[in-house]
Amino acid sequence: MADDAATLAAHRTDYWILAHLRARQGRLTGGPACVVTPRSTAEVASTVRLAARHGVAVVPYGAGSGVVGGATAPGGSLVVDLTGMSRLLELNERALYARAEAGMLGGAYEAALGARGYTTGHYPQSIDRSTVGGWVATRAAGQFSTRYGNIEDLLERRTRLLLFDPRQGLECAAAVADMAAARLGWDGGRTAVELEGYRALAESLRRFA
Ligand SMILES: Cc1cc2nc3c(=O)[nH]c(=O)nc-3n(C[C@H](O)[C@H](O)[C@H](O)COP(=O)(O)OP(=O)(O)OC[C@H]3O[C@@H](n4cnc5c(N)ncnc54)[C@H](O)[C@@H]3O)c2cc1C
Repeated sequence: MADDAATLAAHRTDYWILAHLRARQGRLTGGPACVVTPRSTAEVASTVRLAARHGVAVVPYGAGSGVVGGATAPGGSLVVDLTGMSRLLELNERALYARAEAGMLGGAYEAALGARGYTTGHYPQSIDRSTVGGWVATRAAGQFSTRYGNIEDLLERRTRLLLFDPRQGLECAAAVADMAAARLGWDGGRTAVELEGYRALAESLRRFA
């Protein structure tokens, strides 16, 4: 936990241009009372429980590359900085998925996959400045999303990201389309938006086949 001036200033907002303009003009109000950097899911849970007990607003913070002010902390809030949780937890070559802690930077995540010959195919321009958890929270899109899909298409059971083997090309992508179809039935609670996401992926596969 930190509440020194430098840490609070660094977590006051994200890349939202209006917040920076207001800061330059001395008009940016609010800001967190403290920043907690948990190292485990259990620490996140106890932090959020404590904040709820005291009625304190909680702001999850990835790498702060958001451009719409989502990570702009209101006055007296508690920022949960996820970058202390940055490990690749699992790379399953049989079922073609990977699990990473939410605070892992995108560039580090892709490098870890690339070292084993895989990719998730998600390349936002901010890949080295954004986290895996931030991608999911913002429904991010990347440079190759017309081929691989948006992050919501790549997210399997909300905790795993699909894997592609670039050496296998479209054959592998087609397998992933099948997995996307399969996941629709898994929890029965999928929204229309996610169904549309799958159709878009199938369409892009047809277009590039
Ligand atoms: C130069 C530049 C290029 C960019 N290029 C792209 C691009 O190509 N594609 C694209 O989609 N976006 C792009 N962005 C926007 C930004 O990088 C994405 O929105 C990214 O997904 C944000 O990730 P982050 O880890 O930085 O999240 P943050 O900015 O830290 O947070 C963004 C929002 O998500 C919430 N959040 C963060 N982590 C979590 C979590 N673990 N759990 C729950 N909520 C969480 C925050 O509270 C906030 O509301 C770009 C931004 C910049 C500055």
